[in-house]
Amino acid sequence: MTAVPVAIDLVSDTATRPTAAMLAAMTRAPVGDEQLGEDPTTAALEARVADLLGKEAALFLPSGTMCNQIALVLHTRPGDEVICAASAHVYGSEGAGVAVLGGALIQPIACPRGIFGPDELSAAVRRPKMRAPRSRLVVMEQTSNRGGGAVWPLATIRAVAGRAREHGLAVHMDGARLLNACVASGVAAGEFAQPFDTAWLDFSKGLGCPVGAVLAGPKDFIQEAWVWKHRLGGALRQSGVLAAACLHALDHHVDRLAEDHANARLFADRAAAIPGVRLDPPEIETNIVFLDLSSAGVDAGTVSARLRRSGIRIMVEGPTRMRAVTHLDVSRADVERAAEGLAQALAGAD
Ligand SMILES: *Cc1c(COP(=O)(O)O)cnc(C)c1O
Repeated sequence: MTAVPVAIDLVSDTATRPTAAMLAAMTRAPVGDEQLGEDPTTAALEARVADLLGKEAALFLPSGTMCNQIALVLHTRPGDEVICAASAHVYGSEGAGVAVLGGALIQPIACPRGIFGPDELSAAVRRPKMRAPRSRLVVMEQTSNRGGGAVWPLATIRAVAGRAREHGLAVHMDGARLLNACVASGVAAGEFAQPFDTAWLDFSKGLGCPVGAVLAGPKDFIQEAWVWKHRLGGALRQSGVLAAACLHALDHHVDRLAEDHANARLFADRAAAIPGVRLDPPEIETNIVFLDLSSAGVDAGTVSARLRRSGIRIMVEGPTRMRAVTHLDVSRADVERAAEGLAQALAGAD
């Protein structure tokens, strides 16, 4: 039996294909050898992101994971501790990179929606003791992916960053979906990034690019980040073709994130009306919807398999938990169809 092709892919906002206009921009890009500092399009992208985030310098990297890993390794020394939400990507989804590459530990804070406050940070910070790890860095994830796309409010970011400074900690933003947060809240990227030493943007999520992320921070930090970029095999050659896609996305794919947010809300409203489906968390702030099927009487794997037969993909996150993410390649009609498919999958028999 041949598999049904995926018509509506809500597994992740990484599912986007480059648009024709993006591919055209890529073919026009002036390029050179990036490792030699000779790729003008990559340099233009780095300058643009540094400016957008209000930082001195920026560095193009192949992925968001590499942005996090390089930043965490540079902010810490072996034996140090990084504090972040228990749901954070740096904790659960990066192959224990900071332990492997930097010899540092992570102390996770259990918190609803992946957002914690200054007092929770203070409670997590180690008192200086010879035998204790040294608290060194706090990471905030904007938006919080496993927190259901929740937006860290600017006031919370400022309060946590301010408290971090009092404790002598550095502050890093995992900004994989920072621009979703900006579009949802009306707060500028530079304002969100201002309290952080380092911050980065992912271009391969809602912005719709095939590859790319940019890490921004102080000039000397970014110079050191270059050493790690080489070390990890992340230095590139004619990366301008990729950077051109990112520049195109900054011009054309930012404001439209509002459509993804509206589609996520529509899907969530339709899904929540299906018996046995609950939203967890209940508020949909950006493009991520978590479904709790614990009272549906059918497990997530079965629902997913039934959906697949209708050409719909929604991620299985746990035995009774699923995640749907909207993006550039799903329309309003698609999410309506996906919600109908979900209702049938829950009602249907195998
Ligand atoms: C996707 C993601 C990353 C990693 O980005 P890649 O480009 O996939 O390596 C990091 N943090 C969060 C919150 C993410 O969602």
